[in-house]
Amino acid sequence: MNPISYKFTKRNQKFSLGPQSLLFLSLLLFFLGCKAPEDISSFKHSLRDDIDLYLVPEKFNVLESTWINLQNTGTYLRSDLVKHLKSYGRTIEDLQGDPELEYSEKDDIVTMKIRKTSHSTHYPYDTNIPIIFHGEKWFKIEENSDVINQQHIVPTLAKIMKVRNPNGVETSAITKILKNPNSTEKPDIIVTIVVDQGGQQYYKAHPDIPKNIELIKKTSTYFPNARVGHVDSHTAVGHAAIGTGAYPIKTSVVGNTFFRLEDGKIVKNEIYATSEIEVNTEELKTETFADVLDFENGNLSEVISQCYALRASIGMAGHGSLQIKNGTYNGDKDFVYWLAHKDGAWVTDSRYYTLPPKSSEFNVYDNYTKEYPNGWKQYGKPNKDSLPSMWNEIMATPAQVRMEGETFRRTLQTMILDTGKHKDGHTDLAYLTLKGTDAAGHGFGWESLEAKEVFAETDRQIGLIHEMLKKNYGDNFILVITADHGCAPLPEISGGLRLTVDEVFKEVNSLLPAGKTGNLINFMTVGQISLNHDLMKETGITEEAIRGKILSISVKGRNFFKDVLFKKNLVSIKHD
Ligand SMILES: [Zn+2]
Repeated sequence: MNPISYKFTKRNQKFSLGPQSLLFLSLLLFFLGCKAPEDISSFKHSLRDDIDLYLVPEKFNVLESTWINLQNTGTYLRSDLVKHLKSYGRTIEDLQGDPELEYSEKDDIVTMKIRKTSHSTHYPYDTNIPIIFHGEKWFKIEENSDVINQQHIVPTLAKIMKVRNPNGVETSAITKILKNPNSTEKPDIIVTIVVDQGGQQYYKAHPDIPKNIELIKKTSTYFPNARVGHVDSHTAVGHAAIGTGAYPIKTSVVGNTFFRLEDGKIVKNEIYATSEIEVNTEELKTETFADVLDFENGNLSEVISQCYALRASIGMAGHGSLQIKNGTYNGDKDFVYWLAHKDGAWVTDSRYYTLPPKSSEFNVYDNYTKEYPNGWKQYGKPNKDSLPSMWNEIMATPAQVRMEGETFRRTLQTMILDTGKHKDGHTDLAYLTLKGTDAAGHGFGWESLEAKEVFAETDRQIGLIHEMLKKNYGDNFILVITADHGCAPLPEISGGLRLTVDEVFKEVNSLLPAGKTGNLINFMTVGQISLNHDLMKETGITEEAIRGKILSISVKGRNFFKDVLFKKNLVSIKHD
């Protein structure tokens, strides 16, 4: 990997000076003068035709939908807080002196009223993740300091399985971690577990917690410097990378949510989701490893993919029985399923996938009520009618993680082990995302005691799955453990700012002449903007003017953004 050699353009650069072509030429020369700049590779990997601008917040600033401002009460170990604050040049007095936080402490436990945090940027806290390849027959036991991306996982597994790469793969197998690259031995199952938001920030904040994962690491090839090599560092994008081995420039999956302004109101389109049980997986434009392997095995491989969010389970497993344009596979209805808010049951889109029958034994709301008859933490006694409105809170509980681990093990048991399919000579694939760490991280900050508790349960479930694999497969399995992304520290702790996408729409549209209606932004993800070129042409508003307007946005008297990158400049740099 090349060292970081790119510096973002100065935010106060005068883009109005001189003809546009000269400016473009000078930027082009500036970019070409730099050697394959590491810092912008994430943006280059995500160049989608209809995206024009990439937003780069200042470090620690968090751009999100309006939920980022919802209030919650979190608890923190005082000594942890002091340590985190110090790393940002801040002190506990900064928190104690902020009346909004209603700071209180007792027996080394700090309680604060906080708002939420999120992830989407190319900064290390959002992108530094672990990747663990476990399987003593195939992988060397070593810690490897190379910087690899999620996109390296698929070609490495395809190499072991002796199947072709899915059609979006641009990376190569990491053969140097293989004990014998020419071995023809294949595992009976490959299990991939994604700890959602489980970047290195979680492991650094709670080093004594992931005991099982640490044990697995010791008998694996472990990449501590792996990273999310694309933007937005969001769930859908990370899972698509893990499933397809392709960058967003090929998968077309660049974010979770696509925001539009309609009649002055923000409208959200969630990727793949038509409704809770109807999906459009053509939005994932390349084949997954599961699509390819299953087809090559005459659809005799079992494919399981479970996460409570459909954007994760679909991104990992792929298209099931749906054929995509350019895909040269012929799929069957794999076990791909997720949870419905409405009634808390596991569901699927039965046009393309199959719901494991035993999954009906598990229900989110029944589980929560049974495990916490008096409510969890500050949330009072559960009331049946209000449970769906507590979705995010319920997802952030250890009981939820436990139920997801049990559901996954039940599916593995009933769909593969009980049917003897683990011994049929066709390698099966099972994907699991444990997402409680993400819910707790967003709601309380990964620094919190709430997140620590959920992380501990996540680690316990991974330990149980590892035990189950050893018991039933001996050493004839591969287990991959990674994360889809990390997360920004809680702004209350880091001193970072929050901004909502609504504000970006509002500020950009303020460039329109008085009386002119319409939207200059066609749509945006959290970090990427597609512009309305017709309206820009009609009103004479340039990309440079829009960039300038976005850069002028300030929160609490501080500029929110560090830079706004033009796609037209990024494309001129060779894709590495
Ligand atoms: Zn995620």
